[in-house]
Amino acid sequence: MSDLAQRLADVDLRIGEAARAVGRDAGELTRIVVTKFHPASLVRELHALGVRDVGENRQQELSAKSAETADLVDLSWHFIGQAQTNKARQIRRAAHAVHSVDRDRLVDALDAAAEPGDPVLDVLVQINLTQDAGRGGVEPAGIEQLAERIVAAPTLRLRGVMAVAPLEEAPAAAFERLAGYAARVRAVAPDATWISAGMTADFAEAIACGATHLRIGSAITGPRPPRA
Ligand SMILES: *Cc1c(COP(=O)(O)O)cnc(C)c1O
Repeated sequence: MSDLAQRLADVDLRIGEAARAVGRDAGELTRIVVTKFHPASLVRELHALGVRDVGENRQQELSAKSAETADLVDLSWHFIGQAQTNKARQIRRAAHAVHSVDRDRLVDALDAAAEPGDPVLDVLVQINLTQDAGRGGVEPAGIEQLAERIVAAPTLRLRGVMAVAPLEEAPAAAFERLAGYAARVRAVAPDATWISAGMTADFAEAIACGATHLRIGSAITGPRPPRA
């Protein structure tokens, strides 16, 4: 077995254990492999190993790698990084889901970027779990307003919430709050059931708090190469 296959199998085993430990079924979890800074060839290797959900946090890398792997028609690309409104068209063309929607202007830009015949775009409300308002994500007080704006956008479909655990806090405590915010979003859109949370360091805690979509990079891909 290749190192990559081994790491993928190890992570999937740990996901299964973490789910079982809290009485959840690992089959209801989507494991997104974050391939940022790695070449498109890695995406191909992952696909050959059965991976179908991949994530990128920069628009240029998302656009380049999704174009290079366009023949892998069953791949789903998840955009998980800060999105610039002037890149909405490129993001929309490349991504199947955008996890990082955190402001009205981005909702409007993604909606306006739809072209006739485009599929509806799955989007998540990214929530800032830190005390630092400068970090990505909407402040909790703004959750309902942003969710309602997404629901009103005809070419977008609100699927749930996304967050990154703060560095300065135990992830379990932060993900507990996220579960409460997810319920507030479901009060606006009952089928917005996704909770995108959990990375290499904290996916077990995220699973315990109800995460449905895990974004795992380095534990599977190995150390990231230096940014080009
Ligand atoms: C890079 C990244 C991840 C994956 O991080 P790892 O610690 O390598 O698992 C998850 N979410 C976001 C938003 C990221 O930018």
